[in-house]
Amino acid sequence: MNIDIDLAKGLKTPLYWYDYQILQATLDEINRCISGTPVKVHYAVKANSNKKLLKVISEAGLGADCVSGREVTAAINAGFKPDTICYAGVGKTDRELILGMKSGIAYFNVESIEELKVLEQLAEEYGYKPNVCLRVNPNIDAHTHHYITTGLEENKFGIHLSLLAEAVEFSRNSEFLNLVGLHFHIGSQITDMAPFRYLCGKINQLVEEYERKGVEFKILNVGGGLGIDYDEPDKNPIPDFKGYFDTLLSTLQLREGQEVHCELGRAVVGQCGSLISQVTYVKQGIDRRFIILDAGMNDLLRPALYGAHHKVENLTADKDSEIETYDVVGPICESSDVFGKDEKLPLTRRGDLIALRSAGAYGESMASTYNIRPIPESVLV
Ligand SMILES: *Cc1c(COP(=O)(O)O)cnc(C)c1O
Repeated sequence: MNIDIDLAKGLKTPLYWYDYQILQATLDEINRCISGTPVKVHYAVKANSNKKLLKVISEAGLGADCVSGREVTAAINAGFKPDTICYAGVGKTDRELILGMKSGIAYFNVESIEELKVLEQLAEEYGYKPNVCLRVNPNIDAHTHHYITTGLEENKFGIHLSLLAEAVEFSRNSEFLNLVGLHFHIGSQITDMAPFRYLCGKINQLVEEYERKGVEFKILNVGGGLGIDYDEPDKNPIPDFKGYFDTLLSTLQLREGQEVHCELGRAVVGQCGSLISQVTYVKQGIDRRFIILDAGMNDLLRPALYGAHHKVENLTADKDSEIETYDVVGPICESSDVFGKDEKLPLTRRGDLIALRSAGAYGESMASTYNIRPIPESVLV
């Protein structure tokens, strides 16, 4: 990651800094890996819906995976072709379903039989026949943080396996719905390929089971979830896409004409972004020293929400100075507003610039105005 310190010094902090080169190299690597394969990648817009990034990603030819009506609109405005957009979510409102149909999106990832019924009714009323993938809850533990595990039995996502046959029958018999495939999403920040391999095994079983009943699925959407290296962003700026796509393609038993769709968010944008912040105070406690930043949990929520850790780097300290130990915190009135405990950093002073690395995904898109603070500015350099 290349942060131009002189440029950063002239800009208002906190600031989301996006490195165009890393983003483009990531997109090039994805395209290199999937070229000549039946894989299509949809970028999960919720990871970062910054217009400048969306434009670069759409220009690289990826589709978009959306989880709200406004994400569908933002994706189209950024140049994603409607017929490359899929739309998931457990609580799509009538208005959002209508918007999706009117916009001509590729397909809906439908998450319940109740939603199928409403979509059918709206499709009939408005004169559409939308494509539908059924989102299946495959009951897989992706071994990640419990807040971001979505494929397990007890959560709200997808259609339980025991209800899938009913959902398939309903869609197949509907005059107003067009069943095109199955959809899965087992969690996020998954760096071990085993859960993906296991998922593909389950998908093979389902494809075979339904083939026997005469049902074919053109699209197998395996969702997103590929993780990034938060500890060593400079060593691993680009995730192991080859390992990931190879795992999918070597495990799935694809039929003639079948397509594999992925919905990658974090893996596409995570490493290209840093949150840059200025040190407001270095506060000496009794046996701790605090670096108090001008960035807080409203700007970057992941540490407070998931206990996540972003690598902390002092961009302006004297490189040869002694290494000291600090707690790095924000200014918000919440004790969870902490970016790092016992961080080893060079001697840090008021006014220094600090980068919180690997903040391209679920950073800016989760920012809030809590404490009536502004949403941070952003630059793509
Ligand atoms: C969030 C989400 C994704 C993207 O997840 P990443 O971990 O960022 O790759 C993909 N699909 C669905 C349905 C999601 O909700």
